[in-house]
Amino acid sequence: MSFDLSARLAARRADSLYRQRPLLESPQGSQVVVDGQPLLAFCNNDYLGLANHPQVVEAWQAGASRWGVGGGASHLVIGHSGPHHALEEALAEFTGRPRALLFSNGYMANLGAVTALVGQGDTVLEDRLNHASLLDAGLLSGARFNRYLHNDSASLAKRLEKACGDTLVVTDGVFSMDGDIADLPALAREAKAKGAWLMVDDAHGFGALGAHGGGVAEHFGLSVDDVPVLVGTLGKAFGTSGAFVAGSEALIESLIQFARPYIYTTSQPPALACATLKSLELLRSEHGRREHLNSLIRQFRQGAEQIGLQLMDSFTPIQPLMIGDSGRALRLSAMLRERGLLVTAIRPPTVPAGSARLRVTLSAAHTEAQVQLLLSVLDDCWRKLEPNHA
Ligand SMILES: *Cc1c(COP(=O)(O)O)cnc(C)c1O
Repeated sequence: MSFDLSARLAARRADSLYRQRPLLESPQGSQVVVDGQPLLAFCNNDYLGLANHPQVVEAWQAGASRWGVGGGASHLVIGHSGPHHALEEALAEFTGRPRALLFSNGYMANLGAVTALVGQGDTVLEDRLNHASLLDAGLLSGARFNRYLHNDSASLAKRLEKACGDTLVVTDGVFSMDGDIADLPALAREAKAKGAWLMVDDAHGFGALGAHGGGVAEHFGLSVDDVPVLVGTLGKAFGTSGAFVAGSEALIESLIQFARPYIYTTSQPPALACATLKSLELLRSEHGRREHLNSLIRQFRQGAEQIGLQLMDSFTPIQPLMIGDSGRALRLSAMLRERGLLVTAIRPPTVPAGSARLRVTLSAAHTEAQVQLLLSVLDDCWRKLEPNHA
């Protein structure tokens, strides 16, 4: 009747599923120091190279001088400060939505939005490959919870037939472990036809997709009518930290009243909002970063095809290399690391059983020569990777 944690840990190790945290000893970026070793990294989500941008760092420092370092209270008490408010207004304008609400991180934004909108007697329908925070939010909401086939609007339509109460359809914009994008026009059509609301978490689309970095909503030209609940996170292409929900006046007021992960937590440091205001300005105006990123994506895909690597159907910075077996994915990752490249193996339960992969991510901080190096090392290691000794 006691916790046998060592047995649990041993089982995880035996399944090649044990997790270890690489120790980052440099700022985030394309060239990092990890566990004492200089490495070229292809696995962070800093898609535009803003996490250590001098102007963003400077905005944070100036913000700390002006506003101090702590939020000091929740937003509803006395923690909602000038920079938070200015950032919300800038994010509303950026997304073309009437309003936006700032959360401490994406996990909390998703928990907050879903649990504020649906509960017992309602229905939440989710793509089966949605991010863990969206799935957890759906389960926690108490609404009837159902998953539809990946990016399949016909499968969604069938489930919508049986939905009861207020119905929320929830999807990643860019799928975080596969890199493909949701078929939002079709999902929005099905949802609207049944009076359901579509919620899109575009953590990986903002900054990378859309002519002005407006993500999948801009890519498809979808308004607040099509996507009433639009979530973005600030720890990826924005390079800082936090998240937001954008939508109608009534949506945002409802979240302020009912979203517990918004209400019962300290506001993020105001200086962080100052940094994000600067990164938003760079993300919107410096189109060259997006163009460079897109040319690296094309380069990588063409090169990978030439050497016969199996990529997934993605034109985003997320370019996973499907391996299947977790042990094999770990071995390939270790071989790359010996050659100075860091690409983490992503294994179950983060991805479905039998679909371990190397999640390669590209960033505007990379050079063409670095992507070329990645391709030639992959070519070499892929050939040497022995098949499963199962
Ligand atoms: C990273 C991520 C989140 C969580 O955002 P954080 O701000 O890191 O908590 C939510 N949704 C998706 C799709 C993500 O990839």
